[in-house]
Amino acid sequence: MATNDNNNFQAIIAHAKEYGFVFPSSEIYDGLSAVYDYGPWGSELKKNIRDYWWKSMTQLHEDIVGVDAAIFMHPTTWKASGHVDNFSDPMIDNKDSKKRYRVDHLIEAHAEGLPPKEADALLSTMDQLLAKDDYNGLKKLIDEYKIKCAISGTSNWTEIRQFNLMFKTEFGAIASDNDEENIVYLRPETAQGIFVNFLNVQKTARMKVPFGIAQTGKAFRNEIVARQFIFRMREFEQMEMQFFVRPGTEGKWYQHWKTERLNWHLSLGIPAEKFRYHDHTKLAHYAKEACDIEFEFPIGFKELEGIHSRSDYDLSQHQQYSKKKIQYYDNDIDPATGKPYGNYVPYVVETSIGLDRMFLAILSNAYQEETIPKEDGTNDSRVVLHIPPKLAPVKLAILPLTRKDGLPEIARSIMNDCRQEFYCFYEEKDTIGKRYRRMDAIGTPFCITVDHQTKDDHTVTIRYRDTMTQERLPISRVIELVKEKIR
Ligand code: ATP
Repeated sequence: MATNDNNNFQAIIAHAKEYGFVFPSSEIYDGLSAVYDYGPWGSELKKNIRDYWWKSMTQLHEDIVGVDAAIFMHPTTWKASGHVDNFSDPMIDNKDSKKRYRVDHLIEAHAEGLPPKEADALLSTMDQLLAKDDYNGLKKLIDEYKIKCAISGTSNWTEIRQFNLMFKTEFGAIASDNDEENIVYLRPETAQGIFVNFLNVQKTARMKVPFGIAQTGKAFRNEIVARQFIFRMREFEQMEMQFFVRPGTEGKWYQHWKTERLNWHLSLGIPAEKFRYHDHTKLAHYAKEACDIEFEFPIGFKELEGIHSRSDYDLSQHQQYSKKKIQYYDNDIDPATGKPYGNYVPYVVETSIGLDRMFLAILSNAYQEETIPKEDGTNDSRVVLHIPPKLAPVKLAILPLTRKDGLPEIARSIMNDCRQEFYCFYEEKDTIGKRYRRMDAIGTPFCITVDHQTKDDHTVTIRYRDTMTQERLPISRVIELVKEKIR
């Protein structure tokens, strides 16, 4: 990470706190590691991102419907899904600093300091060893490259161990450590709530394969390396969609969703060069294909969303563990046999994105410190969030130029009309320049000013956040104009 980018990242984190977007959780008790709270504008922005995703997945796709499953699920769910046995990361501890590292992160961080060829060689050896779960080999690699702990500066490492990332808790009044029966997990992903409801949804919504089920909701992971603001959290939110297809068509659907999801990101006006695909070479045994859509965060290109072709693994596992048939009868005619395709366990292509990561992508792309040349030759500056207008927490600020001459009354009446349509903000205090700056800092795309001319001709000045240009327009045009721009 370049120092410059790190400064930029720190500035974004500070700005997010100062302007009511993101606060450390329980801050009065010094915070809780990798847990965050969203403030007034943060919760609004987060909701807008969620709504935009939800609308694009459900309302705009006749073949996708939503669910809202519980966070707690029957414990067998996580045995069937493989999370009890496999949802763990290889970890290593430094004996001197007592700091625990995820092995891949430790090696990746070391690779960043190497010349490109050497780094590639190291990472590809690491990938091969990880794919084979060869922990002795990985430990040898760490020793061979003399990788040191960033805190103690020593290479005094423990053996590599697995660490399960699921949070456990107990059901019922009496909790006891030995009582395996009562153990429930906080879900580490939302997807399983979709798989276990496959037949409920397919039957009640009368869906025909291919179709999808979408869900947004909280997920919990006891992440080890959790020090990148809202990029990696212990409690976070996912937006997932599982698309169920006829076996044999998954390749086509995988390509379809890969393109569709990138287009969704681009539809927000974020420059294309900020995104790239990263195709996975290390695949789970059941997976057919998988890739990440990576975004250029201030901490570098990192995973924002995953697209995975998962075969019939999940539904088959639930079928086996629940002993209930989870199949679909396809009465379309197979041209090869002239008969219906019949019963099968559908294959799944999933798209999975972290809402908080998307929030960070939007915020970091939007954040800009700008210098504004003034007429007298000096410079002014502003911090502005160029948030896409459709996602902005506040769409329109309504500002009377002064607190007298009846201007606040006119502004209030505009506010009353506009807030039925979109989120508005009213403010009388301070100079108009200061009020504009505050609106820039929270990403409000439009401000209107009510002045003395308004009383004569029912027009107001509208000021555009990105260009800072202003124009006059009739009050009667305001709602229409803003709605057009946030569509
Ligand atoms: P990573 O490699 O970064 O740990 P992952 O491959 O484990 O992510 P998935 O299990 O595919 O992630 O989860 C889907 C999406 O959920 C990710 O693309 C990411 O946007 C989001 N996500 C996963 N873990 C976290 C987390 N700890 N905090 C915030 N978002 C997360």
